[in-house]
Amino acid sequence: PFEIFRSMTETVFETMSLLARAHDAINLGQGFPDHGEPEALLRIAAEKLLHGSNQYPPMRGLPELRWAVAAHAARFHGVTLDPDSEVLVTSGATEALADTLLAYLSPGDEIVLFEPLYDAYAPIARRAGAVPKVVRLEPPSWTLTANALDAALSEKTRVILFNNPMNPTGKVWSSDEIDLIASRAKARDLLVVADEVYEHLVFEGASFKTVLAHPDLRHRAVRIGSAGKSFSLTGWKVGYAQADAAILEPIVRCHQFITFTTPPNLQQAVAVGLQLDDRYFAELRTRMQRKRDTFRAGLRRVGFEPLEAQGAYFVCARFDQVRKDLSDLEFCRWITTEARVAAIPVSAFYDERPRTDLIRFCVCKKDEVLDEALTRLTRFV
Ligand code: PMP
Ligand code: GLN
Repeated sequence: PFEIFRSMTETVFETMSLLARAHDAINLGQGFPDHGEPEALLRIAAEKLLHGSNQYPPMRGLPELRWAVAAHAARFHGVTLDPDSEVLVTSGATEALADTLLAYLSPGDEIVLFEPLYDAYAPIARRAGAVPKVVRLEPPSWTLTANALDAALSEKTRVILFNNPMNPTGKVWSSDEIDLIASRAKARDLLVVADEVYEHLVFEGASFKTVLAHPDLRHRAVRIGSAGKSFSLTGWKVGYAQADAAILEPIVRCHQFITFTTPPNLQQAVAVGLQLDDRYFAELRTRMQRKRDTFRAGLRRVGFEPLEAQGAYFVCARFDQVRKDLSDLEFCRWITTEARVAAIPVSAFYDERPRTDLIRFCVCKKDEVLDEALTRLTRFV
């Protein structure tokens, strides 16, 4: 019975954050911002904690938050959702992912995933008894081809899960790629799950389309979002699943026996956050784009070779011009303990942890923190 947990190792984000803390390193590993939480949301959460209800909210989420999720999807993506039957509030995107995979995967089923992948996907799918079939995308464009997708599909496939914009690559999926996924999902009657937690971090030149805006996917897809990313509040763990009512129902059933609900004061604050004006979301995007650009240029000066990133708040970089003798994990340990700057080895985003020549830096930090990290790296390497 413990066999499965041997493959479920401690998540790299926890490992690298502990190492960063032990060495007083600047933590550009685990993805969390060090600024930018909207003050109004903090005030509402504090006010509601002190003077609002602290008892179980409705199992599907507070009506005002479900309404705000639907209004936000209509405003930014032109998608019309019924807040009562097509929106579920969860304790973070991770819970929404777990609810969805537990609802739709049974032992022996297959799920198609794309590498490099967020590290929670395969373990959750396996715990549901399913078998991950992984399509490996290749840098620098990380493009999905029909041949690669077709090779991963079988009679046992039930779900295709993709992350858009994609962690750690920053890839924003093209309409052609989403069409390709939609055509196979339709032909084989599959569920498509889109982890869209970075929906507001899409940079100039890239065009993001939610799965629910695709005519063939509106009634066969689940879209997952997170307040952690949209409002720089990763510790709050407020997420949402959005889908056609019949598709959402089994996910709701799983949610009711996993967390049942999410703290009411945080739900009320996030409801207000989703109604912030367009300027808030535009500023978030331009600020992160500027940090991406400045940090990539800085990495190049140090001797790294940064890859493009069209979205999310990560920059992946080749480190072999700096040191060839270390694996990506060894390289990350080395800069964390010696230069005192932490990063994540990109091998952690592959199911079988092959050695890669890439490491990932998180750039949603104050400018002075990013500058100091570059100074430390320059001094050291
Ligand atoms: N999906 C992706 C791609 C992520 O990067 C993260 C975490 N940062 C999550 C899901 C989890 O989001 P949450 O903290 O809301 O559970
Ligand atoms: N999503 C975050 C990242 O990619 C980490 C979340 C976590 O630590 N569980 O860095």
